[in-house]
Amino acid sequence: MVSERMKGLGTARSVIRELFEYGKIRAAEVGAENVFDFSIGNPSVPAPAEVNETAIRLLQEQPELIHCYTSAQGDLGGRQRFADSLNRRFGTSYSPDRLYITVGAAASLCCVFNGLTCPGDEFIVFAPYFPEYKVFIEGAGAKMVLIPPEIEAFQIDFDAFEKALTPHTKGVVVNSPNNPSGVVYSKQTLEQLASILTAKSREYGHPIYLISDEPYREIVYEGFKVEWIPSIYRDTIVCYSFSKSLSLPGERLGYVLVPEDVTDGNDVYAAVAGAGRSLGYVNAPSLFQQVTSLCCDLTADLKVYERNAQLLVGALREMGYHVVQPGGAFYLFPRSLEADDVAFSERAKKFDLLIVPGTGFGAPGHVRISYCVQTEMLQRALPKFKALADSYR
Ligand code: PLP
Repeated sequence: MVSERMKGLGTARSVIRELFEYGKIRAAEVGAENVFDFSIGNPSVPAPAEVNETAIRLLQEQPELIHCYTSAQGDLGGRQRFADSLNRRFGTSYSPDRLYITVGAAASLCCVFNGLTCPGDEFIVFAPYFPEYKVFIEGAGAKMVLIPPEIEAFQIDFDAFEKALTPHTKGVVVNSPNNPSGVVYSKQTLEQLASILTAKSREYGHPIYLISDEPYREIVYEGFKVEWIPSIYRDTIVCYSFSKSLSLPGERLGYVLVPEDVTDGNDVYAAVAGAGRSLGYVNAPSLFQQVTSLCCDLTADLKVYERNAQLLVGALREMGYHVVQPGGAFYLFPRSLEADDVAFSERAKKFDLLIVPGTGFGAPGHVRISYCVQTEMLQRALPKFKALADSYR
């Protein structure tokens, strides 16, 4: 006997993975250059040279020490460097004692959901959303409550949101810049969210935590600003990752920040650390704790994503696709050209275009295009998008 839930999670591939695997099979048939894979969010620019140089230097200078266990919550020197960097950038005074280093944003989120959840708790998520949230929230024993998308701008449908809040609401998840819409939440959206959460926390007599999932914080385009959310809403817990900003998804490094003024912050931090312990997310990889903390003020050369966004948005609009302007990340979430986004994505496959149906992100009638690809490949794909659009005329 095994856990049916875990067996299901372990056997059913995500739609994104299905497409990605299909792409590999198709590449073997028609040649990799003829398959236009926009399915997965793997950064296409290399990590900065300093990352590799720092790793090599540390391996040479500290050959034994660098492979040792660190504190469960991460090495103090590394946490201090992360805190210093945040304090320089955002004018804050965070202490390393409120940072928990762990294996990417995925583990950060799991530590937070598991650390916060009491029986009966709910977390609100806004569509379109990163589908793993459901797995993480339910894995923590909580319920995910999904708010339908506001499809004109992919900000927040506040009427639906207010109706979904109950005394069981333990937290709300935001992800800006967003996967899959690429949209950045405006200051106005965040302030309205904060004011509702403040009023409701008071009414219910307990804090509603805002969990800010920020793997794309650094990928922001001209004319857009990613707000530092803890300065807008006090009870914000930040989940960060170096997977996209430093192009290091395989190294699995990120952190949870529980700012000093979060309500019951000492308990929240202890519970996050306890969840890390219970899930086995202790002592994130030692070498990359050091590397990322020494390189945390750098980013990979992220400009290519903005160039790709401009190219794709302009071309798709000309072809007749409806596209909400992205402000960052490296995703575009146009409307599908038929109501059934799954059928649309299937039809795209006939043109060797691999794009992910929006249904899995809670927004049917859309598809996700992950444009963290070479610009040259994107240019060659444009006639395929045109042919796909023409096939509907
Ligand atoms: N959150 C969002 C919105 C993501 O898109 C991803 C990865 O693509 C993650 C979390 C997980 O990131 P990590 O690789 O740091 O675990």
